[in-house]
Amino acid sequence: MTFDLAVVGAGPAGMAAALAAADRGLRVVVVDEQQRAGGQIFRRPPPSRDTAFRPSAGYAWAAGLIRRFDSDTRLTKRFGWSAVGALYDDDRPGVLELAVDRPGDGLRVIAARRLLIATGAYDLPVAFPGWTLPGVVMAGGAQTLVKAQHIAPVGDVVLAGAHPLLLLVADKLMREGVTVREVAFAQGVPKPAELVRALGAVPGHVRMLAEAGGIVAGLVRSGVRLSTRTVVTAAEGADRLSRVRLARLDRSGRTTGPARAVEAAHLVLGYGFSPSTDLARQLGCDLRWASARGGWVVAHDERLRTSVPHVLVAGEPSGVAGADHARAQGTLAGLVAAAELGHPVPAPAFAAARRAVRRAARFATVVQRLFAPDREALGRLATPDTLICRCEAVTRADLDACLAASPFISGVNALKLSCRAGMGPCQGRYCESGVASVLAAARGRHIGLGGSFAAHLPIRPVPLGDLRALDPDASGDRPGGDETPPGP
Ligand SMILES: Cc1cc2nc3c(=O)[nH]c(=O)nc-3n(C[C@H](O)[C@H](O)[C@H](O)COP(=O)(O)OP(=O)(O)OC[C@H]3O[C@@H](n4cnc5c(N)ncnc54)[C@H](O)[C@@H]3O)c2cc1C
Repeated sequence: MTFDLAVVGAGPAGMAAALAAADRGLRVVVVDEQQRAGGQIFRRPPPSRDTAFRPSAGYAWAAGLIRRFDSDTRLTKRFGWSAVGALYDDDRPGVLELAVDRPGDGLRVIAARRLLIATGAYDLPVAFPGWTLPGVVMAGGAQTLVKAQHIAPVGDVVLAGAHPLLLLVADKLMREGVTVREVAFAQGVPKPAELVRALGAVPGHVRMLAEAGGIVAGLVRSGVRLSTRTVVTAAEGADRLSRVRLARLDRSGRTTGPARAVEAAHLVLGYGFSPSTDLARQLGCDLRWASARGGWVVAHDERLRTSVPHVLVAGEPSGVAGADHARAQGTLAGLVAAAELGHPVPAPAFAAARRAVRRAARFATVVQRLFAPDREALGRLATPDTLICRCEAVTRADLDACLAASPFISGVNALKLSCRAGMGPCQGRYCESGVASVLAAARGRHIGLGGSFAAHLPIRPVPLGDLRALDPDASGDRPGGDETPPGP
């Protein structure tokens, strides 16, 4: 049996797409490696530890979307399953085979006529001395621990980075009783002209902006130091973090003056997000470089079609732009899939979906402009001894030595083949930006000219024996049924 649409990712984009497509009569399967729908922003505790879901201000639609998705019996839902790659079936033109894996259950194949990549994003890692010490965590990761596991750090916390999520995380941690010592932003205070340009984004986002203002006021009232033009230059400690070194950045993004030390048990880093594009790369979709939108993003047309036939993209893999934008794109992608498969979609429904995408994109553009990370400045934080690829223990000095020995290396893939950076279990998700920065600095070329790491099936670690399931005679998945673990 072949599904009409397979959706990978049950965040705002995937949920909205699945519902829009099912409303038009498509048989839809949704796969997500988490235990529940919601994606990163609306991450919930596992069903066994359910608590009331309270989305943050500005996302009033979230509870309704999740409720509709959870209760929709037309959709086939596969939670706890990772999509590890997709293949074309030569004997069945127009049908894609999505390989999905659940540890312990092995690999299965889902056949579908359209595939939507709605795989979201992950924290943008930045390498500097000590960034791999226990006690150093990413902002999204820290937030997930609090949201999904109700685990808060013990001991004082410093937050540093370049993304507004830092404020949300600082607020959440303080509500959990954690002492926040400082929140340090790499950017300066926006200039008046930048603020005037940003005014266009205010309508429709008043509650969200008011919440952000309230958080800043609350942090200041609680005595939390808020610094700008400040970066972490080192995380120090014997076997775990005990001290963070922070330095000022001058207007050209170079550290200036001596670094000051702040005692802390945890350092939370939030430099932004990287679009999760490994599935798209494995399929051969074209990517394009868009630094402010997260780096490498999946290229697409106005109907969200990628360069690979029958493959659509929605949400953060198309460029990090927030949950409103992801939801709007998801709805549009669901309608596009329906129309392509011959299900009638009235023109006004398309027009409304496109308007919603444009509206959300306007706000996202302002946020991207104000909070884009300065990749060149961040790339300079790694010293020769700093690990860039933590899976394969490759340091900056190792990369520089490879580049010096092979003057013709001009892309990250060639560098990967020479020194193994990016070949470990994470398949380069956490070192690609660092490798690209070192390459760009060494060659004096723009970071986007180094290309992106190639991705191959399986994009997640899978026991070798499980790959036998990709045999064409292996059993397939069937529409119907709902494998979401039962809630309380
Ligand atoms: C850790 C983290 C926390 C965040 N918290 C916030 C926040 O508090 N506020 C905010 O405004 N923004 C937050 N963001 C930004 C957030 O990503 C977007 O605003 C929004 O969630 C994007 O929606 P999406 O549907 O594109 O992707 P997501 O919500 O990220 O959903 C993508 C889904 O795809 C699944 N997935 C990915 N790859 C695979 C695969 N191979 N197989 C199966 N499933 C897969 C993931 O498990 C995930 O559930 C966060 C981002 C991250 C990474």
